[in-house]
Amino acid sequence: MDKTVYFDNNATTRVAPEVCDAMAPFFGELYGNPSSMHAFGGSVAKYVDAAREEVARFIGADPEEIVFTSCATESDNTAIRGVAERYGKELKVITTAVEHPAVLQPVRRLKAQGYETVELPVDSVGRLDLDRLAAEIDAAHGRPVLVSAMWANNETGVLFPIEKIAEIAKSRGAILHTDAVQVAGKAPVDVSKVPVDMLAMSGHKFHAPKGIGILYARKGARFSPFMLGGHQERGLRAGTENVPYIVGLAKACELARLGMADEAAKLSALRDRLEAGILASCPDVMVNGDRASRLPNTLNVSFCYIEGEAIAYRLSDLGICISTGSACASGSLDPSHVIRAMGVPFIAVHGSVRFSLSRYSTDDEVDYVLDKLPPVIRELRELSPFGPGKGPSTFQ
Ligand code: PLP
Repeated sequence: MDKTVYFDNNATTRVAPEVCDAMAPFFGELYGNPSSMHAFGGSVAKYVDAAREEVARFIGADPEEIVFTSCATESDNTAIRGVAERYGKELKVITTAVEHPAVLQPVRRLKAQGYETVELPVDSVGRLDLDRLAAEIDAAHGRPVLVSAMWANNETGVLFPIEKIAEIAKSRGAILHTDAVQVAGKAPVDVSKVPVDMLAMSGHKFHAPKGIGILYARKGARFSPFMLGGHQERGLRAGTENVPYIVGLAKACELARLGMADEAAKLSALRDRLEAGILASCPDVMVNGDRASRLPNTLNVSFCYIEGEAIAYRLSDLGICISTGSACASGSLDPSHVIRAMGVPFIAVHGSVRFSLSRYSTDDEVDYVLDKLPPVIRELRELSPFGPGKGPSTFQ
């Protein structure tokens, strides 16, 4: 098949050519170890320093607050498990029902180990109940509290009101971690304005390679390092620095910093056209997530009466890459925990799919999807035993 329309950019993105160019010398002549005493290694260390400065500038941090990790899963785990180890079982951990497994799983591990944990619910469009957040912090009665709330949701693109969450958490003395993986490069992140204590990002979600992550840890943040070993990253993350990827990550941050405003406008125009086209051409479709507060590149829709997996497979045959929120990768066809947490009606919960665009998405690609998708939906509905006039109105 020659045509590929890649609308799965919340899963991963293409590495930008500028990022590849920036990394190339570090796979060649600049192969030294930045921790070496000799000048050859030292000449590489200065590139790591410059990269740290660029990454810090991207999120309004001080370079000393940036820790390079292998991925956002490591950054999230370091924050949550590291704070838990530092404070012990006196700590209460509050998170949300719609977090990525990189947050939910460590929090659930802590619960199994005897920590008090809470997963806050969301409403039908994925919004958090902020009064409940405040009440849960207050209910700890002065014990240390860690709040972990994502900046933007990977499945729906819904943006949590992180400024308000920070205000509630910090005014009550709670520690605040945020998974900012999906917001990176799509909307501004400035930790000099939003007082989060810890934050996670991942290079491959904004055109750097897979296998490089950012942990932001505000000065004074107390957590036990996850990776123990050498003195790299000021003792906060042992392991020889992945210099080529660190340099590539910094380039991706620079590109995002300089291009974000224009890209966001272009992306939301493309996404809105895709959304309007789908709603106009397919009946019984629901948009999932708060349309008033959403990432510019993400569209999550439910096609009632059919399965998201069937849609994704059929579109894949036509060269269109999208994803469903189901846990099918883990061998289960259960609907996504995010869509379920929003209480999406049963006839729609299985038919949810996500389109996620990037700076490389084009109008032609949107046209192609709008041309190919409606017949696929019609055919699948004809085959489906469910639907208007077809007996049971829900999946069993
Ligand atoms: N958090 C969110 C919101 C994500 O979307 C992802 C990846 O899908 C992760 C964390 C994990 O990122 P990584 O692949 O870098 O471990």
